[in-house]
Amino acid sequence: MPDPASIARVRGWIDAARKVTVLTGAGISTESGIPDFRGPQGVWTTNPKAEKLSDIRYYVSDPEVRRLAWQNRLAHPAWTASPNRGHLALASLEARGKLHALITQNIDGLHLKAGNSAGRVVEVHGTVLFVACLQCDWRGPMEAVAERLRAGEEDPSCTECGGILKSDTISFGQSLKPGVIERAMRCAQECDLMLAVGSTLQVYPVAGVVPVAKQFDAKLVIVNAQPTPFDDIADAVLAGSIGDILPAICG
Ligand code: NAD
Repeated sequence: MPDPASIARVRGWIDAARKVTVLTGAGISTESGIPDFRGPQGVWTTNPKAEKLSDIRYYVSDPEVRRLAWQNRLAHPAWTASPNRGHLALASLEARGKLHALITQNIDGLHLKAGNSAGRVVEVHGTVLFVACLQCDWRGPMEAVAERLRAGEEDPSCTECGGILKSDTISFGQSLKPGVIERAMRCAQECDLMLAVGSTLQVYPVAGVVPVAKQFDAKLVIVNAQPTPFDDIADAVLAGSIGDILPAICG
């Protein structure tokens, strides 16, 4: 846990702020039992081959990658995970009227489960709770496709057009949804405090919201167990458990 003086200083900044924009990454959900990618116990750290499953080129070209991806989705911890103290602290920030936007790279739906409102949450990398067709406009709840998987299909295709289905998430190599990153950048420009939580801040374009907030004169606070490329420009870096730190600074 960071020293009490640093916690008190950041808590004071949040008390004084009117518009806090938060950026969260996979690190906020590890305490809910969902592994991150690049942390010490991360999916890619422990199994570098897993990176293939997150790349759209392999997904589209290789039915075996799709079969494995569907198995992983059926077993995804997001189905049973509950929000932890970090998620709940961000819900309380919204309840206090301080939250301008909660930009998340996460696909697990836990911010909405914790009580943050859909109007404030910007899911830049989509959600694993929905499925979308890569060819047509079809989009539907994961549960409908999960039933087909449980009934024995290994690589279910779109019932509308026969196209390849995928969780409604953004894989590496896939374009972001139009308008979503623009909204995230706008929320970074409009805030007076940017709180970056549980991210290595290496995935672009979303990591770009951090320097943008700083350029627009916001205070920058980073909460993460490991160093990030933006620690040098941050007004405060709090290293330690997100579940301990966020309740202490968000009130
Ligand atoms: P990342 O895996 O690159 O980094 C996570 C960071 O959080 C690491 O630096 C790690 O040390 C830190 N961390 C982990 N648990 C922590 C804790 N309890 N307290 C403090 N720090 C902690 O994550 P990223 O930057 O979000 O990039 C990964 C990409 O993969 C994102 O685009 C995201 O969409 C996706 N992803 C999402 C989930 C999810 O939805 N929960 C899980 C894995 C990956």
